[in-house]
Parts: sequence; structure tokens; C-alpha cells
Amino acid sequence: PSLLEDIVVLRSKSHLASEHSSFVFEVINQNKKGGTMKLRTNRRNIGIIAHVDAGKTTVSERILYYCGTIHSTGEVHNGAATLDDDPREKAHGITISSAATTVSWNEHSITLIDTPGHVDFNIEVKRALRVLDGAVVVFDAVAGVEPQTEANWRLADDFQVPRLAFINKMDRRGANFLRTVEMIENRFNAHAVLMQIPVGSGDEFEGILCPFSKRIGVWSKELGDAPAWKSPEEKHLLALNEARASVIEAASLFDDNVLEAWLSGREISEESLRNAIRVGVLQGRLVPVYCGSALRNIGIEPLLDAVVQYLPTPEETNWNGPSTDKGTVAYAFKVSASEHGSLVYCRVYQGTISEGDRLINSSNGRNERVSGSFAMHAGKKTRLDSAVAGDIVTLAGLKETSTGQTLCSDGLNFSLEELKYPEPVTTISLEATDLAARDKLMSALDRIRREDPTLHVSTDPETGQLLLSGMGELHLAMVRERIEAEIGVPIATGKPQVAFRETITHEAEVKHLRKKQSGGPGQYAGITIKLVPAERGEGFSFESLVTGGAIPQEYLPAIERGVRNRLASGFLCGNPIVDVKVSLLDGETHPNDSSAMAFEFAASEAIELALQQAKPVILEPTMKVEVQTPDTNLGSVIGDLSRRRGIVCNQETTGSGLVIIIAEVPLANLFGYADQLRSLTAGRAGFSMQFSHYSEQ
Ligand code: GDP
Repeated sequence: PSLLEDIVVLRSKSHLASEHSSFVFEVINQNKKGGTMKLRTNRRNIGIIAHVDAGKTTVSERILYYCGTIHSTGEVHNGAATLDDDPREKAHGITISSAATTVSWNEHSITLIDTPGHVDFNIEVKRALRVLDGAVVVFDAVAGVEPQTEANWRLADDFQVPRLAFINKMDRRGANFLRTVEMIENRFNAHAVLMQIPVGSGDEFEGILCPFSKRIGVWSKELGDAPAWKSPEEKHLLALNEARASVIEAASLFDDNVLEAWLSGREISEESLRNAIRVGVLQGRLVPVYCGSALRNIGIEPLLDAVVQYLPTPEETNWNGPSTDKGTVAYAFKVSASEHGSLVYCRVYQGTISEGDRLINSSNGRNERVSGSFAMHAGKKTRLDSAVAGDIVTLAGLKETSTGQTLCSDGLNFSLEELKYPEPVTTISLEATDLAARDKLMSALDRIRREDPTLHVSTDPETGQLLLSGMGELHLAMVRERIEAEIGVPIATGKPQVAFRETITHEAEVKHLRKKQSGGPGQYAGITIKLVPAERGEGFSFESLVTGGAIPQEYLPAIERGVRNRLASGFLCGNPIVDVKVSLLDGETHPNDSSAMAFEFAASEAIELALQQAKPVILEPTMKVEVQTPDTNLGSVIGDLSRRRGIVCNQETTGSGLVIIIAEVPLANLFGYADQLRSLTAGRAGFSMQFSHYSEQ
């Protein structure tokens, strides 16, 4: 089908999309504190999010280049990209940790957070989204919307992050701009606005049509050359008109004057179109779409203009701040710890931070002293006099702050809601060669856990082995490599094991009295407790409904501790029991013989009894797996998936002889899948997976 036919089909659907837009943000906060705060209106804090391999790193690199921060571009596939400054990232060819980099473009300063696309590091994307004001979502024009982009898009919805789409790799064979736009509209129920239309694709990708200037930008092969703008030919006019119609139609939804002018056929100024679209973007109702090829340096400057033009300033972002605008609030979204100290990446939400300032970590109550604040430029730091609201900076000197915690001025006692971390799904055992190595291992683990709260360290109760649990095989492999590099001794690891869970399927209520009164101080604690199954993923909750002092307040923490500890050690096969609501209904206390310890024991015993009635089951992590395979291998790939107890949920054929299979497969059956898939398809298939849910075994 011709470009035009595609566009017509596409546009006829977009009206629907805008009406049912999946997310609409609250009214944007126009400096609610009456302009008294010192803010950065010429600042943009943005994230670049994408599926692994869509070109996020290449796009970020080109942005650094065009903004003059770096003077040559190291291609990612050569392992020399500037943002991937961690040697492990280079070795694996992926981006693990979010690097913050501040660049300037047209008198605006843009802080870029490069977020990982690999699902094992999903939590890093969440932390980045929490502190960002806007995002550029990068798509591969051949693959379209990929699973991780989908997951990240929904996270961006949750965090109400306005966004632009950049359809990259237009120079690849099989690149299809409109198909990708259509996928964005259909999968995300988004209203995409055609801010550009590519002229040609693959080897014939010539340039980009701009509906505002009504011209075609053509980039030369020389890196850094500005595009030449030429008039469209006859054959481009229809596409150009469609792009204009898309822009005007979108703008008319947000500005009645545009609507009127459009209906009466009057000329509409570029400025009013752009302003109206900006309103739509900030409300999360419009997604402007751009295109290009980062690798061939095409389309980056217009994308940067769009970031400045359409994405919000820090003051336009809602954050539920404390009731007073006096004092400082900052959020630590990443910690980078080494033996020589740590750097804490923070977003300042309110007030200022300068060297020597004392702050309270309101999440753990500790005092911190800032020994310096810095802006980061692709690995280089520059010292700042002070950081103000809206800045993303790194702070030195903090000793007690972990990822996800809030820092504020003394007396403010305000804490931003902490993120809910997913439960780890994979565990490996770690073994140090000798005692000295074990000490080093333990302190390295301590540091790493400050950076990454999704890691859990425990000891196997039977073997005494040290266990490390995390978000997947790759996550754990990276941590192990990092530890070895830091402490300089090899660490032996066991085979990855799936982290099973247990949960209850029925309610249970138990009345239990612990009573030991023979000689010495007695133990007397009466407890009535109820367990109710919670929704999957909801985790543990504990509430006390005790009235009239049947149990004194001071014993409640001990009771909760007893409950938690008992649940942590499981019932059927020693796996933690999750997704259960525990209510303390009633109790009994003895004036002399009750104690916190007695209540802790009683709680543990009561839970044991309740579990016997609550019909526990074992849960196993199930992954959503997406495989892209040539259609000739389809049979063997599906056969293999079903041998792994996988259930195929969807199968879609792309234009280029590839089939995309989406299946749900128990994680326990997926170890070594990459090797197997490679040998089944002679290396021509690819796959990605992410945690989907826990299912009953
Ligand atoms: P990330 O995993 O999303 O950070 O993706 P990268 O930036 O590492 O890119 C993945 C691969 O795609 C690398 O080999 C890049 O050179 C390549 N790539 C990135 N952008 C383009 C593009 O515009 N066109 C083509 N043909 N390849 C690209």
C-alpha cells in the first residue's frame, strides 16, 4: 500500500484513540507556591526509554555530540559509547545503570538519564521515571513496539510522565514508520501526532518532511552538518498535507481558536499550533512522533528542539510536596558506592543544597552532611555552588543514604513515597575461597545493596551457604562480576535457582494463648489473629483492630515481628509466604507475666496454627517471553516452548518473514533458553523475557 493509503487508515483511527486515551494527567501545577521558589524554567529533566537494542544509547550519544558535550561518537557496537562508562556494560553491550548527564541546547539545559532497557533492571527505569519530568521513547522502526517498551510505557503512565516518540533506525531494511505509529496508537491507546514523516525508508531513507516548514530536511553523511531544507516534490504533497492535518487536528483539541480557524479555513500560526500541542502533551493526551536514524545522525536536532518545546519544565511537574515551601527536599534515585565513598544522584524538589549543608534522611532518620554537589557530564563532574529545585545532581559525603530515600532539612520531616520493589525471582549461592575473601565479599555486598535494593542477601538455613537473590540470571551475573572486579578474588557461584513463594488460599482465624507459669517470670500472651489471602503482588500487611487495651500498644511491634518471621520461613517447603493480610483481632494480657517476648512467640505460634487451616500453595514465577523467529523455524520454536510448559498467548507475523510469539513460561524451565533458541534457529531468532506473575504450581 502507498504511504498515503496507510496514513488515511491510520488517521481514521486516531480520533478514537484520543477519546479513550489511557491516561490523563491532573491539571499541571503552574508553580503552586506562587512563584516564590527559585526554579529552573530553562531546564528539562528527561529520560530516554526503550526496549534493549532500539538505539537508546546511540540516540543519547548523538544528543551529547550535538550539544557539544563530546567531540566524537563511539559506536555502541564497538564498545566505546560514552554513557556506558561501566566496563561491565561495555562487555555485555547493554546499559545497566542510569547515568545522568547534563547538556545544553539552545540556552536550555537538558539532563538526560539513560535508563536500562533490559528487563532485569526494570527497577532502575522506575527510579529514573520518578525523578524525570518527561521522556523520549525510542522505537526500532523495524521491530515496532517491543515488550520492554510496552512495560516502560505503562510505567511512564503510572508516573504521569509526558512523552515524545522517536522512531529510530529508519535506515534499516524493513523500517516501517506508519506501522510503528499504528502500533503506538493501538497498543497504548495513545493519540500520536505526526510531527514528521520520513521520506523513504531503508537504503532509500532520504530525509524528513516537516509539516510546519512544509519542507524536507536532508542530512549529509558528515556528522554534525546541519540539514539542508528543500521544497517537497509533487509526490510528497499528500503525505505533507496528512501530517499537517494530524497536527492541526491534535492542536484543535486543546485550543478553540485553532479549531475555529481550522473549520473556517483560516491560516493558523505555527506558534498557536505548537502551544496547543504542548498543552496536550503536558496533560498526557498527545504523543508527538518524530523519526530518524541515530546511527546516520539523522533527526537528532529536531528531536532536541521538541524536547525543549514540548516536554515540561520542573515547575510544571506535580509532586506532592510538604505543606510548607520552606526547607529542602531531595530524593536519592541512585547510589553509586565504592570503597572510596559514594555518590548519591538526587533530584532536588524544593529549596537549595550547598556544600556543608546538613540534611536529615527522613527515611531512616540519620543525619547527613553534604561535602559537595556536582553536575554530571558523561562521566565528568563539575562542582556546583549550590543545587536548586529542579536540578538533578550528585551529592558527595552522604554515608547513610540508599537508593529510594528522601533527604530534607531538619524539622521538615517529609518523605516521598518509597517505591515498591519487586520480589526477587532468582537466587544463586556465593562462595568465597577463604575467610578473608568472605569478609571482603560481605562488605562489597553491603555497598551494592545500598545501590540496588532489589538484591537480597540471606543464608541457607540448612547448608549455611550465602545466598544472593535478584531479578534474573543476568542481574546476578553482573553483580558477581562486579564483586570479583572490586575485591580481586574469584567467587564461586551455584546454579541459579528459582525463588519460589507460598501463599494462602483460604481465610483462617485462630485464638491462641501462650501460657508458661512454672517458676521464674512467666510468659502469658493471648492472641486472636486472622489471615486473609491478598491480591497477587500486594505483599504483606498487618493491622491491629484490638480495642480497649486488651493488648498494650507497646507489644504490637513484637507481635508484628513474630508474624513476619513466621511467614518468612514458609509452610510447605520453606519459601516465604506472600500476599497475605494479617489482622490482630483481640488478645489477653497478664499484669505480671506478659512481655514483648511472650507476645512475639505467641504470634509465631498463632500463625503456625492459622497456616494449617489456610490451605497454603506453592507459587512459581512465570515469565512473559517474546520470541522473534524466522517463520521457517516456527514449528520447532513452539514445540520447544510447550516442552518447557509454556503457553502461547499470541502469534503475529511481521512483513519481513519474522513471526513474533508471545508466551508465558515458568521461569524454572527457562534457564539456558538463549543457547537452545540459538541452536534451534541457527542464531536467527531473538527473545526477551520479563517477570509476569506468580502462578500456582
Ligand atoms: P540500546 O540497547 O537501546 O541502547 O541500543 P544501542 O544504541 O546500543 O543500539 C543497538 C544497535 O543498533 C547498535 O548496534 C547500534 O549501532 C544500532 N543502531 C542504533 N541506532 C541505529 C539506527 O538508527 N540505524 C541502524 N541501522 N542501526 C542503529
